[in-house]
Amino acid sequence: MSDAELVLRSTRVITPEGTRAATVTVSAGRITAVLPYDAEVPAGSRLEDVGDHVLLPGLVDTHVHVNDPGRTEWEGFWTATRAAAAGGITTLVDMPLNSLPPTTTVDNLRVKQEVAADKAHIDVGFWGGALPDNVKDLRPLHDAGVFGFKAFLSPSGADEFPHLDQDQLDRSLAEIAGFGGLLIVHAEDPHHLAAAPQHGGPKYADFLASRPRDAEDTAITNLIAQARRLHARVHVLHLSSSDALPLIRAARAEGVRITVETCPHYLTLTAEEVPDGASEFKCCPPIREAANQDLLWEALADGTIDCVVTDHSPSTADLKTDDFATAWGGISGLQLSLSATWTEARARGYGLEDVVRWMSAKTAALVGLGARKGAIAPGHDADFAVLAPDETFTVDPAGLQHRNRVTAYAGKTLHGVVKSTWLRGERIVHDGEFTEPKGTLLARPQ
Ligand SMILES: [Zn+2]
Repeated sequence: MSDAELVLRSTRVITPEGTRAATVTVSAGRITAVLPYDAEVPAGSRLEDVGDHVLLPGLVDTHVHVNDPGRTEWEGFWTATRAAAAGGITTLVDMPLNSLPPTTTVDNLRVKQEVAADKAHIDVGFWGGALPDNVKDLRPLHDAGVFGFKAFLSPSGADEFPHLDQDQLDRSLAEIAGFGGLLIVHAEDPHHLAAAPQHGGPKYADFLASRPRDAEDTAITNLIAQARRLHARVHVLHLSSSDALPLIRAARAEGVRITVETCPHYLTLTAEEVPDGASEFKCCPPIREAANQDLLWEALADGTIDCVVTDHSPSTADLKTDDFATAWGGISGLQLSLSATWTEARARGYGLEDVVRWMSAKTAALVGLGARKGAIAPGHDADFAVLAPDETFTVDPAGLQHRNRVTAYAGKTLHGVVKSTWLRGERIVHDGEFTEPKGTLLARPQ
């Protein structure tokens, strides 16, 4: 047996080959071996036996809006990464908007990195942004280590982050394809949104009608056409419309390089249950009907949807008014994403292995970190969540770590209690107690 500083043992370790009783050895922050359960513990190493709790790879959440600096009263790196750690997430990739400055130049990236560096409780990477006027900044951002570029096809809600029209998208995507980068897209078509009835007010049905499925479907159709023509790699963010699934399946079948994510709130909450005026449920695209949700689950199971990410996008509580038209759109899900997704997954007959694939392995692969994150396997970072999958808890907003404790999950009873979270071999949270920040800043592997 190899030398090890730390040995973790569980009757249920989720590995890429399946779940088994195993002993995992760790040295210098990396997994060195996954051994039989009764393997001898090397002299001098520290044994952590978690019994029947499940040892799973720390989750990799590639869609988080931290808002720091600039809108730190909405969310900051300290609070967001604590919430993530409490929820079993060990890596996040920060979205380029809602902070000031947005991550649209290398100088701006440096500002963000400086702010994040000593506040990150988990590992943090950055997406860049593609704006109408920053095509010249895309290559330098790519070289500086952003994981790809986010673009909106309809207004983003942040004035400093304008959306791309069809020509601008074409120019940005051609540039990004030229250096082998990845474009990630908020896909709602602005013309379909403008044509939809805009009643405003507190009725959820009116809000839902204002963000129709065909806005997503049309934007995705156009994106597929451009990806095909430019041989570009594109990723659809936060898919909500199940009507777009056949389009995506057909594009994949003909070799278009497209991947897709959805979010816990689309998988676990339904339009039918959103109370009028309850804008903690507002996000764009919106939470749709139960029948739509069933099709999203089918698409996850068959691989049409690759992964599940939070799209954690908080604001101060005062911006969550009871008017769905003007309330801030965004759901804060970091701390609850694993438990919420697992609760619904188990009810639908899926296993924790599936959840780990959607929320850790596939997201790590999306950003090119698959050799280092997202698996309990030799050579990977020793990032773990220890989960009691059958224990339940009722969501109390007071127990949440993100800055503004607004949540769409208040009062829900969820399965899956995160007992501890480990980052590169160090336990960073244990029964609600956090260490000092141990996170590092990540760059896209060159
Ligand atoms: Zn987002």
